[in-house]
Amino acid sequence: MTMLSSLNGFAEKLLAGRWMAGAEVHNALEVARKLNDHGMRAIINYLGEAYTEQYKVEHAVDTYMRLIRYIEQTKSSADISVKMTQLGLLIGKDVAERNYAEILAAARRAKVFVWVDMEESTYVDDTIEIYTSHMYGDMCGICIQAYLKRSEKDLLSLLKRGATIRLVKGAYTSSRSKGYATRAEVTDNFAKLMSLLFGKGRSFTIATHDLTMIDMALKANKTAHKDVTYAMLKGIRNGFIEELAKQGEKVSVYVPFGEEWIPYSYRRLKEAGHLKLLLRSLFERKGA
Ligand SMILES: Cc1cc2nc3c(=O)[nH]c(=O)nc-3n(C[C@H](O)[C@H](O)[C@H](O)COP(=O)(O)OP(=O)(O)OC[C@H]3O[C@@H](n4cnc5c(N)ncnc54)[C@H](O)[C@@H]3O)c2cc1C
Repeated sequence: MTMLSSLNGFAEKLLAGRWMAGAEVHNALEVARKLNDHGMRAIINYLGEAYTEQYKVEHAVDTYMRLIRYIEQTKSSADISVKMTQLGLLIGKDVAERNYAEILAAARRAKVFVWVDMEESTYVDDTIEIYTSHMYGDMCGICIQAYLKRSEKDLLSLLKRGATIRLVKGAYTSSRSKGYATRAEVTDNFAKLMSLLFGKGRSFTIATHDLTMIDMALKANKTAHKDVTYAMLKGIRNGFIEELAKQGEKVSVYVPFGEEWIPYSYRRLKEAGHLKLLLRSLFERKGA
């Protein structure tokens, strides 16, 4: 065993239990069951992105089809969340669209809600186009990222078409011309997009660990009375979200599983900012 692989093994053990469900479908379903027992939904994501090989895309589609069957059989309260570049966008837009349509059709039959993750800014147009081409019949929603300057326009146009939105700050970076550079600017835009959702939306998800934003949303909904779900990533502030569920709010936890844990963990590590936050996230009470 090389030094690198034993280091990988150690990091996997440390991070996987905290931020990921494990490698297999049954690991994700087990986490979903625990969340459900505590009154929370799961949003299950099979890790993987930027696939250029057909066999990997096919494996991802098969895994999602299996996941949908198991969610139905186990009667889990769980959505799935897919990435267009995992479904073949880099091979061709038609490939991703065909695979997305196949997954969505199976999910609709099984009454499983399908979320579309949003990736880097270069994929936003294709992702929105594929999503809107198949959104009729409902049971699907799309993520919008506050760090992108274009998102206000996208959000308004999607709301006009009746889309279901999951609002996030965004896990990627972009050029100064396309994106907001500082965390404060991103947060300001998040607040602005959130108030648009409260004004023009009906049913939407506020996906953040930013307690100020969550507090703003809770206050806004005292008068707006919208169908709001609060969502967080597995392993971050999960004690807090469990409390929200106990208070009667709708909550979901994003549960990634699979072998490809490195890019996902890298993004979480970058967000943790410095060691203190990371350690807090690793050792705080695990929640459900
Ligand atoms: C349900 C869900 C779905 C998502 N889907 C997408 C998607 O499709 N596309 C996309 O680009 N992004 C997605 N994200 C990620 C999101 O864009 C952010 O990268 C991530 O949520 C961190 O931003 P924040 O809103 O929590 O705010 P931040 O300002 O980053 O964080 C607020 C506070 O939360 C705590 N915190 C945040 N991250 C960590 C961490 N890793 N470790 C420890 N503490 C932390 C810190 O205390 C921090 O001060 C999703 C997030 C959630 C919750």
